[in-house]
Amino acid sequence: MTESDKIRLFYSLNDYLKEKYGRKVRKISVDAGFTCPNRDGLKGVGGCVYCNVDSFTTPSENSITCQVTERAEKLRAHGIDTFILYFQSYSNTYADMETIRRRMDKALVDEGIVSVYIGTRPDVIDAEKLEYYSNLNGKYEVMLEYGLQSANDNTLKIINRGHTAADFADAVRLTHEYGIKTCAHIIFGLPGDSREDMMRSVELCVELGVHSIKFHHLHVVKNTPLADWYYRGNLDLLTEDEYIEILAEGIGRMKPYMVVARLLGDAAGDTLIAPLWAKNKAGFTQKLIKYMTEKGIYQGCRLDNPL
Ligand code: SF4
Repeated sequence: MTESDKIRLFYSLNDYLKEKYGRKVRKISVDAGFTCPNRDGLKGVGGCVYCNVDSFTTPSENSITCQVTERAEKLRAHGIDTFILYFQSYSNTYADMETIRRRMDKALVDEGIVSVYIGTRPDVIDAEKLEYYSNLNGKYEVMLEYGLQSANDNTLKIINRGHTAADFADAVRLTHEYGIKTCAHIIFGLPGDSREDMMRSVELCVELGVHSIKFHHLHVVKNTPLADWYYRGNLDLLTEDEYIEILAEGIGRMKPYMVVARLLGDAAGDTLIAPLWAKNKAGFTQKLIKYMTEKGIYQGCRLDNPL
């Protein structure tokens, strides 16, 4: 088999960026000081059960520009001069328009920025904000990243997400009306989710035409309600093999042109409690590739029951 005969198992974000820009692109993550409506009482209190409250910081707005310029300088030192500005922490559309615009202006300070990816919840977006992002969309590739986590409303209740799958679908449809791409975050292994529910989460994203999916495995980090459940023995976590099997099936159900933007969850610093297998990311990716190759699963194959 020659290189060109090989089936691409999945369409990674790196593949997509290489095709789009023809050179190395790296993210510049910014904590712009936004907060979360699932903690301050607007949508809920206590937050999602897996969210570590200790990781909340409130950086000053003035630090936004520094975060960008310092990271850009480091990347340039490694020969990379094309960047995605990534608003990662918390709900980055949860503020009034003036605040959002001001923080964006403080971040868009480097000529190497080609894309702006904005992580948020589906219940804190509206037409006014999308109008603003669509104006940016001419100059940059704008992507709204919405947390779905599960398409099962019962699971969303169990994990205290504070929104429904319908909220996610509405937000994605509205965002597409403004010509803006979307990325969905999905967690496999949530309490309450069956294997069918997990696949339904992927199918919903396919039906809605989201551009990318970020897959996460459920992990337990310190100082979360989930950690209490885990220590009390009330939580089952996926093994690496189980997650690989589910992830492969999920990828198989995606359209070939959708982007697999992430394969695993990430725990900040030393906050991870369990499972520990995900620490070896390279080893995990190798095992996933081996599994998909052996089972003949690839993105778009739509194998319903690979085993
Ligand atoms: S995971 Fe996101 S939406 Fe949930 S509580 Fe944490 S910051 Fe809020």
